Amino acid sequence: MPTPPPFMRTCPQCAELLGALVEAFVQVLTDPHYDGAERIQIALARHLAGVHPETLPAPHTDDCPTCARHQELNPEDVFWREHLARRLFLPDELARLP
Ligand SMILES: [Zn+2]
Ligand SMILES: [Zn+2]
Repeated sequence: MPTPPPFMRTCPQCAELLGALVEAFVQVLTDPHYDGAERIQIALARHLAGVHPETLPAPHTDDCPTCARHQELNPEDVFWREHLARRLFLPDELARLP
């Protein structure tokens, strides 16, 4: 997991979702069928894209099909913003999943 930016510790909702996500990742280690992590991750990305749009990282420039497609066709798309938001709190290989 990357170190989340400081604002995510001071925003109560970010902090709560981050805490829940860490717990979910721990739980998934003991129960591979547990899918709570995905749900929380989506909620957190949505919160970031909606409430902290100014903090979203720049698009991937190194061959990310999701970024390439949206930058060209649909820069206002909320799913793309959520894709960018995931880079703030997920390891790169997970954050890049479409
Ligand atoms: Zn927040
Ligand atoms: Zn991307």
